[in-house]
Amino acid sequence: MPRVALLGLPYDGSSSFQRGSAEAPAVIRQAFTSPASNRTTQLGLDLDRYPLHDAGDVPLTDPAAARDAIERAAARLLEDGYRPLALGGDHSVTYPLLRAFRGRYPRLTLLHVDAHPDLYDQFEGDRYSHACPFARIMEEGLVARLVQVGIRCMTAHQRSQAERFGVEVHEMRNWRGPQQLGLEPPVYVSFDLDGVDPGFAPGVSHREPGGLTAREALAIVHAMPAPIVGADLVELNPRNDTAGITAALAGRLVKELMGRLLEG
Ligand code: MN
Ligand code: MN
Repeated sequence: MPRVALLGLPYDGSSSFQRGSAEAPAVIRQAFTSPASNRTTQLGLDLDRYPLHDAGDVPLTDPAAARDAIERAAARLLEDGYRPLALGGDHSVTYPLLRAFRGRYPRLTLLHVDAHPDLYDQFEGDRYSHACPFARIMEEGLVARLVQVGIRCMTAHQRSQAERFGVEVHEMRNWRGPQQLGLEPPVYVSFDLDGVDPGFAPGVSHREPGGLTAREALAIVHAMPAPIVGADLVELNPRNDTAGITAALAGRLVKELMGRLLEG
């Protein structure tokens, strides 16, 4: 049975619009352990029957040092035999997380759920902005396939980037369900909560109407082929949440992702 480790990344220093996602790891942990719900996944796995390692929060300060610290923390977990489940933080954390996976899986598929493609070559002069991680990942050849779901903010520049890198973009307006993705394992999933419709997930920095329902988001997690070898859940902004709706969804997504990470 694989072992899973939670890794908190309280970092929002590469956010282009609002701060606040650095406060998310504590809020997600609280939702995950809340007595408001039990810890059996919707697929029937009782998470309390498995040891959970919480590696705590990585201390993160300036952007370059943060990237280095995130990569080192994730690499250490991988070396110790854990599958990391990282709690962001803004989406810039995914680039150093994937760097930690370099050389470990020859054909890794990256499933990316997001309203935004995050493929800018640079955003407002910053190549490491939360609008850019997937450009960096593809430039370095860190994954064999990048499959994007939930996308509804495509720009001409990012469309040309997607073509350049061979990104498989599934725009939200054409969404028919996860069976259309043709995913092959192993899979790493990077889940930006703004991929979900703001009606279900208002607690994000960039609200984009017309997204996934909570059910559709969970169905994507349930449909991925095992093994899932790592995951991140990013861009929860507790300052924008309403009545803890987004935190509750994040807590549920952590449970469902953890259940899938525990599959051989
Ligand atoms: Mn994103
Ligand atoms: Mn986004």
